[in-house]
Amino acid sequence: KRKNRLTAQAYIDGVLAGDRVILSRAITIIESNLESDKLLAKDIIQAILPASGNSIRIGITGVPGVGKSTFIEAFGKYLITQGKKVAILSIDPSSQRSKGSILGDKTRMEELSNLENAYIRPSASGETLGGVANKTAESMLLCEAAGYDVILIETVGVGQSETAVHGMTDFFLLLMLAGAGDELQGIKKGIMEMADMVVINKADGDNIRMSEMARLQYQNALHIFPQSESGWEPVVTKASSTKNIGIDTVWDEIKKYKLLVSENGYFNKNRNHQKIRWMYDNINEELKRMFYGSKTIANKLTGLEKRIISSEISPVKAAEDMIETFKASFNK
Ligand code: GDP
Repeated sequence: KRKNRLTAQAYIDGVLAGDRVILSRAITIIESNLESDKLLAKDIIQAILPASGNSIRIGITGVPGVGKSTFIEAFGKYLITQGKKVAILSIDPSSQRSKGSILGDKTRMEELSNLENAYIRPSASGETLGGVANKTAESMLLCEAAGYDVILIETVGVGQSETAVHGMTDFFLLLMLAGAGDELQGIKKGIMEMADMVVINKADGDNIRMSEMARLQYQNALHIFPQSESGWEPVVTKASSTKNIGIDTVWDEIKKYKLLVSENGYFNKNRNHQKIRWMYDNINEELKRMFYGSKTIANKLTGLEKRIISSEISPVKAAEDMIETFKASFNK
């Protein structure tokens, strides 16, 4: 059992009161894999749920080195001058606490982390993306219940985690650099397609002209994609995170987006859709885990593979047999 664990009510009251220390401890419970913590986590989430959701959730991605943490530091500080309370979370399935995740390094966002209205939490660690994403999404609900009204969720723009972040946010921001093709930047077309806004970062010094060229290029590229259901036309802007230029424009665009999708109903529609999909994703993952985690199944599968290869049994029949075996294992 965890030492000094509080009662569920103490976590709930602390989070709702905006107590950052309790918020951090509650997130630790959410991230824990201890059975007793999981039960406690469910009670906490259930209780704070009605107080969650009152925020704009912004996903931020871009390859390492594009300037994500520098941008978030500048953007976060700007938002605080606008009266906002900002929580910064991240999804990085490869991270392990000991190794330090993309947000784990204490030197990153140092000024922002010292501000009272900012809350920064590094990525949960864990083996599966689904597990890490669950923990981040639940941490987001806790942050909202604690009064944070802008949630920034950062991820590295190289893999599957973008889809997870896109699936839990209202607005998706892609940071890019001038003078490097998307291929060079490792950005997949699918990620470009998810973007509500592309920010060409490091648009300063010798880079300004190139950045304007890149801006036009990406603006044209985005026009090729079919119009999003949100009714929003993705925008491309330039920014310098180190010189603090164009940071306010990003927030202005997000405010415009929020207004548009609140009026046309997409904001709520998308959130409802995300909640429902979150449930199905969990069902799917748990079913798979149960199926492939079963010893009986694992043993039988190895034999079946050989029989499929030798055309003794059809793949379809084999799959049916496996499902029957799985079902039978419940009736025992
Ligand atoms: P991340 O890996 O995406 O989080 O990138 P970082 O925020 O760590 O930035 C990588 C490097 O780019 C650092 O040396 C930053 O100082 C630099 N950098 C970030 N933003 C800007 C910018 O707007 N202009 C310039 N010139 N450099 C930047």
